[in-house]
Amino acid sequence: MKILCVGRNYAKHARELGNAAPQAPIWFWKPESSILADGAPITLPANIGAVHHEVELAVRLGRRLRKASPADALRAVDAITVANDLTARDLQEAAKKAGLPWAQAKGYDGFLPLGTWVPYDGRDLQNLQLKLWVGGALRQEGTTRDMTWGVADLLAHASSWTTLEPGDILLTGTPDGVGPLVAGQDVRCEVVGVATLRNPVVG
Ligand code: ZN
Repeated sequence: MKILCVGRNYAKHARELGNAAPQAPIWFWKPESSILADGAPITLPANIGAVHHEVELAVRLGRRLRKASPADALRAVDAITVANDLTARDLQEAAKKAGLPWAQAKGYDGFLPLGTWVPYDGRDLQNLQLKLWVGGALRQEGTTRDMTWGVADLLAHASSWTTLEPGDILLTGTPDGVGPLVAGQDVRCEVVGVATLRNPVVG
């Protein structure tokens, strides 16, 4: 099973990290071992600097996609949920500066808290609200209307260069408001009306 992710898919988030808006989707992977259940503790690895939260819409495929059109790609979605694309931001920034991959910064065990899958049922994926709270404070609030590439275009683009299999997951990028987590906090993510996710943070 693959977990394909896209970076800088919301212009305001690209800007908050000092990045230009990309001309094409920026793809990266997270490993299956990064998945963390709703309610399970997020363990911050020692000595790696800041670990940031990123609330995102996640979609799962129900059938194989290869060189698909956007419309066909959307028909292959079988479920959606909320994800927290945890990122070792200092490691990622160092990798970016050195022109090196982000694999470790994105791939620690437990770096992908994932909500319960909900049937897609043809709902409008470009009109969903994303929210993330740390403790009682709302830290991220966005709408999937602001994606640079919508879900259909992302899946079509991805399927132009890699075959997507049933069960594969796409993370669609985060809106602005990302920030660090510290031990003792509680992080709550929501795709409003779809799914919620809550994880305590431990050291
Ligand atoms: Zn992300």
